[in-house]
Amino acid sequence: MRTAEELRTSLRAIDRRSYPAYKSLAGSFSFGRYILNIEHIQGDPFAAPSQLSVTVDRRAAAFPAACYDTPWNRAALEDYLLRRFSRQAGRFSHQAKGSGKSGVLAVNIPGQEVLERTDCEVRSGSVTLRFEVGFPANGRTINARELEKILFEFIPVCVEQGLLYATTPKPELTQTIHLSEDRHFIRDELARLGLAAFVADGSILPRESGVSDRPMENAVPFQSPASLAVTLELPHRGPVRGMGIPRGITLIAGGGYHGKSTLLKALERGVYDHIAGDGREYVITDSTAVKIRAEDGRKVTDTDISLFINHLPSGRDTTRFSTLDASGSTSQAANIVEALEAGSRLLLMDEDTSATNFMVRDELMQAVISRDREPITPFLERAADLYQKAGVSLILVVGSCGAYFHIADHVVQMDAYCAKDITACAKAALEGRPAPALSAPHFHLPANRRAIDLSGASQTRRNYRGDSYVRERLKVKRFGKTAFSVGDRELDLRYVEQLVDGGQTQALAYMVRYARENLAGLHMDEVAAALMKTVKEKGLGGICGSNVIPAGLALPRPQEIFACFNRY
Ligand code: ADP
Ligand code: MG
Repeated sequence: MRTAEELRTSLRAIDRRSYPAYKSLAGSFSFGRYILNIEHIQGDPFAAPSQLSVTVDRRAAAFPAACYDTPWNRAALEDYLLRRFSRQAGRFSHQAKGSGKSGVLAVNIPGQEVLERTDCEVRSGSVTLRFEVGFPANGRTINARELEKILFEFIPVCVEQGLLYATTPKPELTQTIHLSEDRHFIRDELARLGLAAFVADGSILPRESGVSDRPMENAVPFQSPASLAVTLELPHRGPVRGMGIPRGITLIAGGGYHGKSTLLKALERGVYDHIAGDGREYVITDSTAVKIRAEDGRKVTDTDISLFINHLPSGRDTTRFSTLDASGSTSQAANIVEALEAGSRLLLMDEDTSATNFMVRDELMQAVISRDREPITPFLERAADLYQKAGVSLILVVGSCGAYFHIADHVVQMDAYCAKDITACAKAALEGRPAPALSAPHFHLPANRRAIDLSGASQTRRNYRGDSYVRERLKVKRFGKTAFSVGDRELDLRYVEQLVDGGQTQALAYMVRYARENLAGLHMDEVAAALMKTVKEKGLGGICGSNVIPAGLALPRPQEIFACFNRY
């Protein structure tokens, strides 16, 4: 490996040359405590900045093994180091000057969730951090002095102050690791106590605004009703009281604007871990939970929705249902069936984002439109069997539809942001009233396994002389937080509501390309399993199928991987 001084010499030698001469700097250089990798160099000062990484040796980084010897602690440490490095990088960004993106020094700043990311990876104690540098130029002429500042003054400080145990404030690191272990403990406790979710007292559930995921100031802290309260003995924090939502069917009821959807949203996000100060640190949901909603217009391929939809007027087969443009009810049915395929044990639904005709059919409607003219078996008639026969729990927000009181095990009312257990009162209100149909015949779990179409692993392009075609890898591109394209196919996942980070979308795009190149002909469940195995063995970068691992990828759950391929 070349030394830092060799890099300095090469750099000085290209000063004032034209910009592409920067390309000669690619490679790895030893800086003593760490290795600097110059992985991808931008073609001109206005293009996306160059991609670099540093790898700090285990002995130099010197973090105690207890900080990274479990997957959850490792993820917490990586997240912590990324945020520390990012603060350092922020101090130096644009301190070196020049045209276009000259002097940019940036890392991806994560949101409120702690996710495994390619931006920072801890492997057996060594720390790799990936970031971007805008190589400086005056016009299109190399300014080597300014890049020398970045590589030999700024980055060494970022590494020194951001990535070494020696300079890490110990109480903050301890808090991070303890939080991670406490959260993991709660996840294990959910299973042991038969709970679908836990919401600690004092949690701050609402967010600052529709576009900010930070906690709302002066919000009413969550408080469990006494009847649902459980106290967990966390290994570090000690006793924490909160609402334990038992497995089964739970309704969140209440008037408009009383905080129902806010609680459900927090539960949706509770499949992920949150950073200290988020307000949802101890809101923990069964990690397989899937938010279900109507999604008019989505694509459905070969899905068995016959549990809910049969005898369509067109005579279409609903055991292998395909459409490019599903209706509200068929899309919601498909979303449930696919969530079951993805191993979900908990469905989260909000009446507001559900298709009304999918949820219930009232008596008057049943009297007027006879059952054999209605293809839909409403969810009301399947929910109890889903739990009793398949072990799939439900948390449902209801504002107007009382019929679900009949099948609910628990009813929580949100009353001016206060949770109350109104189960007894709701059950009492049912007495003497005729119950609607609550269970439909022919309950069955959808069983068919689907092969997915992953054809076309590469695209062809005319060579420079235009006389033949060369094959090249499909281009991967992300648009905004939820959409991407692979080759000429685009996908928008905006209604996959538990996709919370643009980095996950980016990772899904790479997964699609990886699957097209390596996993063609497999069934959906095999594709998801193969992708997760690759990530487990090689890290998240393993799905890129190239030597250079890009920054900016975050790990989605298996449920989101299924959701992505199911819409592809
Ligand atoms: P619902 O679904 O019952 O109609 P929402 O959950 O949408 O109500 O909440 C309505 C409004 O109240 C939102 O703007 C939300 O940010 C705010 N809100 C929710 N929970 C709290 C709370 N605990 N403290 C303060 N404001 C809250
Ligand atoms: Mg609402």
